[in-house]
Amino acid sequence: MIYRRQQPLIHIFRALVLVLLALPASTVAQRGAPNLTEEQAAFVEQLLAEMTLEEKVGQMMQLTLESISSQTADATQGHVLNERRARKVIVEYKAGSILNTASVAFEPLYWRELVGRLQAMAMKETRLGIPILYGIDSVHGANYVRGATIFPHNLTLAATFEPELARRAAEITATETRSCGMTWNFAPVCDVMRAPAWSRVFETYGEDPHLCAVMARASVLGMQGDSQSSPTAVAATAKHFVGYSDPDTGRDRTPASISPAELSDTFIPPFEAVFDAGVRSVMVNSGEINGVPVHADPRILTQLLREQMGYEGIVVTDWRDILKLVDAHRVAENEKEATYLAVQAGIDVAMTPYSVSFADSLLELVNEGRVAEERLDESVRRMLALKVEQELFDEPIPVQDDTGIVGSSDANSMSLEAARRGITLLRNSNDLLPLAAGSKILVTGPASESVVPLHGAWTYSWQGADERLYPEAPTIYDTLRERFGAENVTYVPGAGFEQDIDVPEAVQAAKLADVVVLCLGETPSAEKPGDISSLILSDPQVTLAQRLLETDTPVVLVLVTNRPRLITAFESQLPAILWAGHPGPHGSTALAEIIAGDINPSGRLPFTYPRYANALIPYDHKFTDALGKNPRSTPGYDPLFHFGAGLGYTTFEYEQLSVSSSGSFPGNGRIDISVQVANTGARPGAEVVQLYVTDEYAAVTPRVRRLKAFDKIELAPGESRTATFVLESSDLLAVDRDGHRFFEPGDFTFSIGRQSETARIGR
Ligand code: BGC
Repeated sequence: MIYRRQQPLIHIFRALVLVLLALPASTVAQRGAPNLTEEQAAFVEQLLAEMTLEEKVGQMMQLTLESISSQTADATQGHVLNERRARKVIVEYKAGSILNTASVAFEPLYWRELVGRLQAMAMKETRLGIPILYGIDSVHGANYVRGATIFPHNLTLAATFEPELARRAAEITATETRSCGMTWNFAPVCDVMRAPAWSRVFETYGEDPHLCAVMARASVLGMQGDSQSSPTAVAATAKHFVGYSDPDTGRDRTPASISPAELSDTFIPPFEAVFDAGVRSVMVNSGEINGVPVHADPRILTQLLREQMGYEGIVVTDWRDILKLVDAHRVAENEKEATYLAVQAGIDVAMTPYSVSFADSLLELVNEGRVAEERLDESVRRMLALKVEQELFDEPIPVQDDTGIVGSSDANSMSLEAARRGITLLRNSNDLLPLAAGSKILVTGPASESVVPLHGAWTYSWQGADERLYPEAPTIYDTLRERFGAENVTYVPGAGFEQDIDVPEAVQAAKLADVVVLCLGETPSAEKPGDISSLILSDPQVTLAQRLLETDTPVVLVLVTNRPRLITAFESQLPAILWAGHPGPHGSTALAEIIAGDINPSGRLPFTYPRYANALIPYDHKFTDALGKNPRSTPGYDPLFHFGAGLGYTTFEYEQLSVSSSGSFPGNGRIDISVQVANTGARPGAEVVQLYVTDEYAAVTPRVRRLKAFDKIELAPGESRTATFVLESSDLLAVDRDGHRFFEPGDFTFSIGRQSETARIGR
């Protein structure tokens, strides 16, 4: 009986160990460990040796600012520090960290003063004077700081295919965040988008593991700079480890079924890339994988993350996730048991976030001998080390008031540049765009006269949907009027995101216009509030589009969405489509420039745009997904727009793909790939050269192709250039059913544009 009950567990365990063993040996290093001098390291040890158990459990606890605040009537600030509660948390319970804003964004100087007060409390009123780490979600700029530079969200940033833009955006974000006294940032998202309906699609760098890895790595390098003590650096957080982005239903924090092979092949690569870049912390996936909540899973948080991947930074839970083991996942009967599971699984810091009961539970567990004090020491050492590395003991908030740098015009120009390079032209029949000067334009649709969808969630508030909090920023209607002249541009609302407004008026106005710019989208949202039951764009917006398309006036669709909402009911009649995602405060300017032709668009879609709700198939699907392309039998793989798609106002052609391999595989082997790219149009433009590889046959069914490298190159009209890439055996690894990566010799096809060449590698 016992044998039979244990058998499946042993089996699963062995399978997981294989996943773990699968990672290349070179990856097992001290990744994410702080860079301390000998003296600093000795100080950490000395401090640790002096700490009581209460002080240790306190270091492992993080509360939200709201829990130490009193609400005020002022809707734009809504905050006053409650000194009594703050003292209870920081002085009595010795919490090591505070996070978040209280509802809305604060002024930079208010932040500086607030963090300064908390630091003074921690350093002057506690026995050991340990500063706190202040954690914040500066996810697309310092979005909880009023006046900060806000950037396009990651998905639009990914569409640039320019990691340097991600690096610079992250550097500015870090600088502005740190000037306010906050040194721990919960970004970047390293989750690979796999569920198009998921409410956090816009926070990802898209659906491809390589693109996610390259962009997330650039973001971490920009955010962390050369030194944690620099005024331009914060500690970055790779979130959410691992497999958070693929819930089976597409709804946030619902069960995910992910095989070891898929975990290793799709979800782990961006984390590996940022671990190599030294990311200082990791936030845990709030969901469950194959029936086990990740917060309670030692195989993921200890064996995979620590032992196999060699990660040495801080592991923080997500919001309330220890309590969720009780009331959401129901794997623990009470908070104490949940604390036991999470601490033993390997978390360092609990984002509790409203109560100090985590500390009480953990203390009891140690006193009862169920959790070893050494387990606490590992976590506390990591927290202390980061604080020491950031030199918070000497300078808990920046001595010099640098808040003046927040929202500089240079930083805003960079945000505009990112929007220009990320907005993606998906269709342009008969060269409808750019529009000629003097065109009579009707602007309509819910995203045309609102700045909220341009920004997306995590802007001035969590859900980012409160227009009252936004400073002056132009809408799409504003920028089109400005660019084409007020006398040429009319506006009719048409529809809201979820309601009809005045469709007949919009249709009348369309008949009098040369062209309609129809701006559709959805109310910004993130996490649970962003769950949807249908990926199809809302009925009122579909109706508006259909009615407008019944007129003879051509319609340019601008999509300002959190995720790829389905537009199949009307898209076939649209001559032009621009995808903007959440392009940020300068997105409307960039859109007007693109529509007018001042800017030649160069964004490329970082995800597959689906056509049908029951065919949410990524570009790197299996061969069987593509069988039956005849619509009368089965539809096969037939998305609306392909991953990597995007047009501009010029054209590019590829020729002379060359593939040559040398050396031995695996080992020192290398493959040199080159291709000639020519700008065959009349305008200068940028092309994203995308190299895909297909492993033609493999023991675990291979994918049709995978992006392995890319390069964005600028070409003058008539100019042609050779793009070159080098791949190694580590770029060609297959995966077995247990997630073990290995090199399998055989035929590989290398393709760029329509050019492709198959070569036998390793035999
Ligand atoms: C989100 C995290 C975020 C955290 C702190 C959670 O609900 O899932 O991404 O960092 O809140 O605000």
